[in-house]
Amino acid sequence: MLFQPEIETASPERRRAEQCERLRTLLERLAGLDSPYWKAKLAGVDAGSIRDVDYLASLPFTVKADLRDTYPFGMLTVPLASCVRIHASSGTKGKPTVVAYTAADITLFADVNARSIACAGGTPDDVLHNAYGYGLFTGGLGLHYGGERMGATVVPASGGNPGFQVSLMNDLGANGMCATPSFALLLAERAVEDGLMDAIRSTLRYGLFGAEPWSDAMRTKVEQAWGGIDACDIYGLSEVIGPGVAMECREGKGAMHVFDDHFLPEIVDPATGEPVTDGSPGELVLTTLTKEALPVLRYRTGDVTRFVDEPCPCGRTFRRVARLSGRTDDMLIVRGVNVFPSAIEAVVLDDPALGGQYQIWFDRRGTLAEISVKAELATAADIPMRHEVERRLRERLAERLRIRVEVSCGDPGSLPRSEVGKAKRVFDVTE
Ligand SMILES: [Zn+2]
Repeated sequence: MLFQPEIETASPERRRAEQCERLRTLLERLAGLDSPYWKAKLAGVDAGSIRDVDYLASLPFTVKADLRDTYPFGMLTVPLASCVRIHASSGTKGKPTVVAYTAADITLFADVNARSIACAGGTPDDVLHNAYGYGLFTGGLGLHYGGERMGATVVPASGGNPGFQVSLMNDLGANGMCATPSFALLLAERAVEDGLMDAIRSTLRYGLFGAEPWSDAMRTKVEQAWGGIDACDIYGLSEVIGPGVAMECREGKGAMHVFDDHFLPEIVDPATGEPVTDGSPGELVLTTLTKEALPVLRYRTGDVTRFVDEPCPCGRTFRRVARLSGRTDDMLIVRGVNVFPSAIEAVVLDDPALGGQYQIWFDRRGTLAEISVKAELATAADIPMRHEVERRLRERLAERLRIRVEVSCGDPGSLPRSEVGKAKRVFDVTE
């Protein structure tokens, strides 16, 4: 089921014309504002001359620091009295990032979340168990309003109290759930412990999972834990609107539809800011075309992805991006080529003769940085094949990363394991 079928299956020509019209309208509005922030941002922009969305590439980027520097309301384009809601990011470093919404923004927020729920397989007849946190965080209220807009029966469970949550899912007959993937796994364990899994499985069909990075391996785990539901990735960030910026559909898992009638995506080289054109990975940049209170132009998300331009079997025509493969902060530059540790991980995990452990050594002592990868053979039976496995790994890395990488494959168990927290994978050699 599609929530807004006519919009969601519009032809690329129609979508592009609409994007262009919306961009022009937005820029004309912003240019007329009596705001120091927007006057500086739009110096030299002639909105009336826009004939194509490619014009966007000539505009300056927006970064998270813009929001911090103008805290709390310096980027608002409407009077605060016209806003009906505030959300904020957690603010791990200093002040939180505050975002505001008009009534029309809340409607838009509900629409894109209703679309997202439909992408995962939701319908108006469903009971939707929402275990995202309610509060300043956009996740809880975003999906709550989306579920109501869809016409589903929303259970605002919020986070915490897993025992109570699984009994609610059972008693109320949840058909869909929204949660972080790690909380979804925890709830699955609890449902098994409490003897409720079989009953919940009989009604639960899908889940929308996001707000933390998760891999396809994690998807398999979550789907199996809940007895074969569709686990779909929902993407968003409060600076753009919250959840519902992009969504994976159950028919086309692996890539997410960016709702680009509202949020226009670009992918740029994080080092140069130039558009990446050939489908290689880069930083996702988003422009809000229709938001009222707090539009952003070319917002640098810091998230790494690439365009996926094959048509999706679901029939939606929104441009797709691959599920996120990391953060630009993790990027290494080797001989002018951007290398993401996640890309190396993908190659290592792909080879059945290799175990999951690996290390990336980034050596910048010479004039040109060098990179080498240490991996581990999966089993003792692979030891006689060591040179063959190393040759294969070297070739695949060269093919995927377009650089020469030194590799070595040790015996099974030869690399140190981390006892606590996130494993350290990247080692810098600077002296
Ligand atoms: Zn699709």
